[in-house]
Amino acid sequence: MEKRFETEVLHGEKKEQRSIASKVTPIYQTSAFTFKDLDELEGFYQGNGQYLYSRVGNPNTDELGEAAARLEGAPDGVAASSGLSAILAGVLAVVKSGDHIIAADDLYGGSFHMLKEELMDFGIETSFVSFSNLDNVEKAITDRTKLLFTESITNPLLRVENIEAVVKLAKKHSLLTLVDNTFATPYHCRPYAAGVDLVVHSATKYFGGHSDVTSGVIVGTEELIGRARSKIVNLGANVSPFEAWLTCRGIKTLALRMKAQTENSRKLAVALKENEHIEKVFYPFDEDQSGYGAMVTVELSKAADINQFFRSLGWIKIAPTLAGVETTVSHPLTTSHRALPAEACEALGITKGVVRVSVGIEHADDIIAQFEKAIQQSLS
Ligand SMILES: *Cc1c(COP(=O)(O)O)cnc(C)c1O
Repeated sequence: MEKRFETEVLHGEKKEQRSIASKVTPIYQTSAFTFKDLDELEGFYQGNGQYLYSRVGNPNTDELGEAAARLEGAPDGVAASSGLSAILAGVLAVVKSGDHIIAADDLYGGSFHMLKEELMDFGIETSFVSFSNLDNVEKAITDRTKLLFTESITNPLLRVENIEAVVKLAKKHSLLTLVDNTFATPYHCRPYAAGVDLVVHSATKYFGGHSDVTSGVIVGTEELIGRARSKIVNLGANVSPFEAWLTCRGIKTLALRMKAQTENSRKLAVALKENEHIEKVFYPFDEDQSGYGAMVTVELSKAADINQFFRSLGWIKIAPTLAGVETTVSHPLTTSHRALPAEACEALGITKGVVRVSVGIEHADDIIAQFEKAIQQSLS
């Protein structure tokens, strides 16, 4: 049948994916999928692997969830619109109104706020305790406690969690565990293999790696991820196909980037340790001193003018994020920990002179030289 122009603009021949062997997964930038008849539609509900509606599932978002599961060594994974929505889905998969969570008191600021303000309003209570001493955690357990929530490496002082001990304590009391593995990435640490139930990532950070995407992932058993997936679908926390596609592209170079960034951060940490104007260097070295992660935090000496330091960093910019290929710095006291009372910051050791460095893939000597120059200039 001949079509009018208004119809012709819409209904051309579609390039079917089946017949085109694209080297890279195409971006399925579509809100829904079509069906040729009711049998095919019924097939979707019977689980034939077809897609219906992108909030419910999309090849690009599935590819991201599956990649995360593969890298973490977990049976299943699902992608979300951000790290925080992955955390929300993980928490809501295991707790409901009336339940109690015990979370580390040095949790990422956004997670802290979600638990303390938003989830509290829905009757989910959280106690924040120092996980440095697990006796604190054990003492905080009540008969309503369901979940222990911590991070493999914390922000900004880079405390490395004793994941085996946390898992052991959780199992002793029949609790579930949720670990945010954003800073370490599965290149350095695989909490699922150590017995953690749910592992989350802000894929905005190292998975994406280029500071051009906001996304998140959560991995675990099929049962728990099934529950997390239904939270993501029903709360509308799905990631867009394009952001999922960008994140999948980033993941392909995760090993190369982590290797280079870890090597650079180790060199920077060693150089700054030797600098007499640096009060303290926070950096988790491995047993073989090869480094564990690509974040370095330093405390400048009291004599340094902190603002002058930031102004003297040249191509190293202040950015309220981390994990990109470019080296960036942040000032925790006035950004990530801004909402925390002064005494709490003091207690955690987050002073005015604390600078967090997200080490990039530039030449290590250039990074070190730029820091040494800025330290020098902050003193004059
Ligand atoms: C950035 C970050 C988050 C939040 O991720 P978004 O993608 O910004 O929602 C959670 N945990 C850690 C450790 C982070 O660094």
